[in-house]
Amino acid sequence: ASCRALMNCSLPHRVLLGSLMEGQRDRLCLQSLWDFVTTQEPLIKSPFFPVLFSFTAYMAFCLPYIALDFLSIRLPDLRKYKIQPQNYPSLGMMVPCIIQSVYHHVVLIFPVTFLHWYWRPMHLPVMAPELPEVLLQVAVCLLLFDFEYFLWHLLHHKVPWLYKTFHKVHHKHVSTFALTTQYSSVWELLSLGFFAAINPLLLGCHPLTEMIFFLVNIGLSVEDHSGYDLPWSTHRLVPFGLYGGAPHHDLHHLKFKSNYAPYFTHWDKLFGTFMESHSN
Ligand SMILES: [Zn+2]
Ligand SMILES: [Zn+2]
Repeated sequence: ASCRALMNCSLPHRVLLGSLMEGQRDRLCLQSLWDFVTTQEPLIKSPFFPVLFSFTAYMAFCLPYIALDFLSIRLPDLRKYKIQPQNYPSLGMMVPCIIQSVYHHVVLIFPVTFLHWYWRPMHLPVMAPELPEVLLQVAVCLLLFDFEYFLWHLLHHKVPWLYKTFHKVHHKHVSTFALTTQYSSVWELLSLGFFAAINPLLLGCHPLTEMIFFLVNIGLSVEDHSGYDLPWSTHRLVPFGLYGGAPHHDLHHLKFKSNYAPYFTHWDKLFGTFMESHSN
């Protein structure tokens, strides 16, 4: 019936109706996902959800890289993807990172997200967002987060007191592995959490867009610290060297004085702090 309606109307109306149908199709594509998510409403609205979501996502993104660490130390075919093949994390290096992560999630992230849950109860709309809107907002959130962390990071390297007090912990590992992603001070973790949370709020994102951004952000930060430059690494998928990714951030941990932006390369290029990695 909608096709017949489209054929019977004038051209401007047809264009308008066509784009409306397209919008509906985009929405439909996410609607079934959103409908499934909202069936879990009691869990999503529980005060424990943000901390469970954050920890589960973090560990889920870390696990494949942990497996890769144990596999590639034995398999030379995989070892060629390791950025620093001479340095492998041991179980003794991984366990303190896991303990610190559990401790931070229980003692720090849970109380903060609990207060947020208390003051701003989550509202779950019936309709899903449209796909182009989700993609655009996730990209804008990532660009904003990249800029905010770039400034924070630069400041915490340029002011010796700030470096020593708040950022040095994260630099304990010169050769990073997935579990070092969130190995940082309480202040660094709070700042990163604040930057990640404020952007979707400022843009008025749909809760589904917000969840997708959190997942992408956690996934990219783990990839940054993974210590691997894989054929499908994000910096290989984004053209023109716009994205630095794992080799870019690995160099930051190795040399300290360059590559302050976590994801993209434009701020380091503009501020003269960019250092080319071998893979670029
Ligand atoms: Zn740093
Ligand atoms: Zn790092």
